[in-house]
Amino acid sequence: MQSKLPYIGTSIFTVMSQLAIKYNAINLGQGFPDFPMSDALIDCVTEAMKAGGNQYAHTNGVPLLRERLAEKINSLYATNINPETEITVTPGGTYAIFSAFSTIIQPGDEVIIFEPAYDSYIPNITFNGGVVVPIALTYPNYSIPWDTLKTAITKKTKAILMNTPHNPTGMVMTKEDILQLQEIVLSNNLYLISDEVYEHLIYDDKKHESVIKYPGLFARSFVCFSFGKTYHCTGWKLGYCVAPENLMKEYRKVHQFNAFSCDTPKQLGIAKHMLDKEDYLSLGNFYQAKRDYLRKLLASTPLKCIPSSGSYFESYSYAAITHESDKSFAEKLVKEYGVAVIPMSAFYHDATDNKVIRLCFAKKEATLEAAAACLQKL
Ligand code: PMP
Ligand code: GLN
Repeated sequence: MQSKLPYIGTSIFTVMSQLAIKYNAINLGQGFPDFPMSDALIDCVTEAMKAGGNQYAHTNGVPLLRERLAEKINSLYATNINPETEITVTPGGTYAIFSAFSTIIQPGDEVIIFEPAYDSYIPNITFNGGVVVPIALTYPNYSIPWDTLKTAITKKTKAILMNTPHNPTGMVMTKEDILQLQEIVLSNNLYLISDEVYEHLIYDDKKHESVIKYPGLFARSFVCFSFGKTYHCTGWKLGYCVAPENLMKEYRKVHQFNAFSCDTPKQLGIAKHMLDKEDYLSLGNFYQAKRDYLRKLLASTPLKCIPSSGSYFESYSYAAITHESDKSFAEKLVKEYGVAVIPMSAFYHDATDNKVIRLCFAKKEATLEAAAACLQKL
């Protein structure tokens, strides 16, 4: 059979998690919490199942959940999203992004992404017949090189994918960044796919600049979210896409004959639980404390922190320790030091290696302490 994705191998997250199991290592690689999710939310889902909410949900998502989402979005981002026409619930954020690509890409269309990039974007674009145009964020502060972006735009450019707070770097886009992006998207008649799955995981008093806050830009955007990050349940694989009605109409054609609908009891349970606003509004402080704790624990090691302002992740340079490649350093860490991490080169199409590893701090204090004790031996 002719492969549709000939150059794509196994995801680095699967590779590193398998190695962590094989070598009985502490897993700071793949991004997921190792602490329990909320009992109250589990109870809401259980109640929904017991009450018979077990059949197909509405194809666009349980109406009550979409109403609650619209209320939340409208109050956080001062807008007027319509739950009937502008929100679709999806089986996860990755699927929400894939469907946006499927909705807009025609064969040969170019899509610009920023690297390091979350690993699903390139295969998603390629699979949909698009051509990936990668632009490297400026190392080491991972800022957006605006002039490079402007010169990368051609007649074939269809869309830009952006991600804030950013995985894997923790970079957070500012209002000025969004305004620059808006100018570029609108003046070139592009679409924007905005990956905002870490909207609440933002630190140091920074504010999440959702594209939804900018009506001109939102008019050309698909904005993607994940409940997995917000409610500590990455295994639930539930998310949603927000887009203006004319774009959402086409998006729903793709969704209708792919997933059709998503897990009903979880949608009902989340809709009920969403009334507890503190649960998501407190996430920034909750995760910032974890980021800072890991920083403190690693301060006495030769690893040099490259500060993150958002997401589950912070990166560390190991350039002071060795010149070996980040892949071989990550392999050494998992096999000999008992800690799994992600080599940053995995997030570049050309395996750019700045001698940096990504660590996930969405862990119990005891896990962070145990991992740091291993890394102290470096
Ligand atoms: N985008 C980014 C940047 C992510 O880190 C993740 C987490 N896996 C996703 C999208 C997808 O989230 P989900 O697990 O809901 O598909
Ligand atoms: N988003 C997670 C990460 O970046 C993992 C998602 C996955 O395993 N596909 O680590």
